[in-house]
Amino acid sequence: MSNSPCNGSPSRPNLGQPNEKSHGQPLWLLAELTYKCPLQCPYCSNPLDFSDFGGELSTQQWLDVFQQGRDLGAVQLGFSGGEPLVRQDLIELIGGAHEMGYYTNLITSGVGLNERKMAEFHNAGLDHIQVSFQASDESVNNMLSGSKKAFNQKLKMAREVKAQGYPMVLNFVTHRHNIDRIDRIIELCVELEADYVELATCQYYGWAFENVEQLLPTRSQLERAERITNEYREKLAAAGNPIKLIFVTPDYYEERPKGCMNGWGQVFLTVTPDGKALPCHSARMLPIEFPNVAEMTLQDIWDNSPGFNHFRGDSWMKEPCRSCDEKEKDFGGCHCQAYMLTGDMYNADPVCSKSEHHDLIVNARNAAETVVDDPSQFTFRNERNSKVFAKG
Ligand code: SF4
Ligand code: SF4
Repeated sequence: MSNSPCNGSPSRPNLGQPNEKSHGQPLWLLAELTYKCPLQCPYCSNPLDFSDFGGELSTQQWLDVFQQGRDLGAVQLGFSGGEPLVRQDLIELIGGAHEMGYYTNLITSGVGLNERKMAEFHNAGLDHIQVSFQASDESVNNMLSGSKKAFNQKLKMAREVKAQGYPMVLNFVTHRHNIDRIDRIIELCVELEADYVELATCQYYGWAFENVEQLLPTRSQLERAERITNEYREKLAAAGNPIKLIFVTPDYYEERPKGCMNGWGQVFLTVTPDGKALPCHSARMLPIEFPNVAEMTLQDIWDNSPGFNHFRGDSWMKEPCRSCDEKEKDFGGCHCQAYMLTGDMYNADPVCSKSEHHDLIVNARNAAETVVDDPSQFTFRNERNSKVFAKG
């Protein structure tokens, strides 16, 4: 979100400015249907201890959540995970959401998809499929995903997405191991006739934070990638190709933080596989008690739960945010990032150059200049490693 990518997660929505004083309605509902996934990306944004969480919501519980979300005003529903295709009831969930009037989006690695399922999803009313790639090279893609078949399967499914008339949205999470091949990535997207491409530099949450050293590109890698992307934009536009290339820079190279989720509890609501309702898909890591949809209605959660009210407004702010004239732009930045890096979620996001902890970001940038690329250093996102984190 914009932790963008199938960092195991969708692009952060941009749905207008929130009302600072009160809160709006949740326009964007993200259903993280499962933490199960056949791949093991070291940049996945799922929680490190995902193996420790309870059972998944049932079909009926999900449909009930969707209806409650719709009643609250949500218009867009993303099916995410983990890998949402693992859910055997996905078609039922798509059909139900479509009938409720949602614009539906499947965020998938493509692994587990086939022509028949894609056609069934289409018939059930699915509007949009976003396929994520790990790299443009088969060997790098398969190394990162942990599957020898993943790359060819993704290619096949991406072609099928186009053949079946869905908008073609591709997502590449970029990092120091693949960003130098940005030209090849764009060429591949052109070959696949993509309509939209997210070239989203990894954001460092969950497994990505654990692997930040091996993922964070250098400034020169980033600048080169952005320059090449701009050159392609011009070249493709001049040739009449309508492809949209969206380049997302990691906030580690910014001096001001992102206005996370357009404001806490303003437009976005995510529900985890076990029913936790969150204002942001990373927020589970915070020391806040978040409600569960099995115990409270979405309306009550949205309006009254301490979790959703926690960072609304600005009364929670400390200096330098409290007296900052930019606080209505970025709301103090990302609370998860403040928590991960400083241990205090009320601190300003250290990405901000006004933060007393900004040196942590500068040090990470400096470290990126000298790190030796070594994929054997990755901690891959899988059940075994997750159990180690869950044990503490
Ligand atoms: S492991 Fe990879 S494919 Fe699976 S959810 Fe995480 S980022 Fe997506
Ligand atoms: S001090 Fe706080 S509010 Fe001001 S720009 Fe930095 S993070 Fe944003």
